[in-house]
Amino acid sequence: MAARGSQQYPFPLLFILNVSIIGNTPVLNHIFFSILPNSMHTKLTNFLSFLLICLSLSACQKTPLLPTTSNQLEIAITIDDLPYQTKKGGKPIDSDPAIWKDTNQRILKALANAEAPATIFVNCGNLATDDTLVAQWRAAGHSIGNHTANHRSAAHGPLADWIEDLRQCDNLWAKDSKERKWFRFPYLWRGETMKRRDQVSKSLSSAGYITAPVTVDSHDWLFEFYRRKSVKKSKSETWEATLGERYVSNVAEAIAEARQISKEKLGREAPQILLIHLNHTNSEYLPQILTNIKKAGLRIVPLEKVITDPLYQLPDAWAGRGARWWFSRTVPLKRKNGKPWYRNREGNLRKELKQLLLSP
Ligand SMILES: [Zn+2]
Repeated sequence: MAARGSQQYPFPLLFILNVSIIGNTPVLNHIFFSILPNSMHTKLTNFLSFLLICLSLSACQKTPLLPTTSNQLEIAITIDDLPYQTKKGGKPIDSDPAIWKDTNQRILKALANAEAPATIFVNCGNLATDDTLVAQWRAAGHSIGNHTANHRSAAHGPLADWIEDLRQCDNLWAKDSKERKWFRFPYLWRGETMKRRDQVSKSLSSAGYITAPVTVDSHDWLFEFYRRKSVKKSKSETWEATLGERYVSNVAEAIAEARQISKEKLGREAPQILLIHLNHTNSEYLPQILTNIKKAGLRIVPLEKVITDPLYQLPDAWAGRGARWWFSRTVPLKRKNGKPWYRNREGNLRKELKQLLLSP
């Protein structure tokens, strides 16, 4: 955690603090009041009491009175597809609720061990009827998001159907809930045209949802896909470990890439938002990834903190199925030389992992 003492308070707050300290320290009180005319003593005492009450109320709030100016770089962890990574058609790639449960518990434990907060995005249509997974995430202090009932793309198809799929998950929150209602687009697709994207966006905001963008894609779903292929091909444990190590190094590379884009595009390191999924790969390797994030000097913070950065207040300037990640959706959409901000990580990984699968 950032040292609170390193926060920079502006002059008005320093003034309030100083006056309040004087008013409540007998010796200082005596000196300070002795230089003022008697007629002002009562007024000043009332004023100091009022300021103290204001300060006490501010200290009791969960959110800091002022934004921190900690120089430590920050990242939020977001996890999609609760109860389990989906396949084409929106159903979990593994249909066994016992596997979902075990995977969720292992990922929850990894986060708890690293004291890392996360936001978890739910496909409520995939939850088993007696499912308690959402409650477990909530109880562990993580925030909850809607990922549509059946992992339906917002990019195309009848809009009314998409809204129906979205609103099915409204009951993840009680009617009087004070929690934020996060939303994450399946496939990170927001609409094939500007008109469609804006219609989708309007339906989200009118239902009280806050969209969570992504700046770092782990491509964990692709590693999970190859892991499952390797199981079918009866690959050795050593082979699977090689695949896992490559996943861990890929996440480190993806974070480094996003940090570099931030420096080039904004001239500073903005807080990042990492995307992973609920799958076996993360149940094995998330502890290592969280350790590496910390070793790289990043502090894992809640999404609600990261989202306040000006980067995430910029308008979305893209429509279409490409440009999934936030740096490629805000102007300038491309680098000066016309090249995209992000490398073709998915294409390169597909080639690499295909080759790896052929190896013994
Ligand atoms: Zn998803």
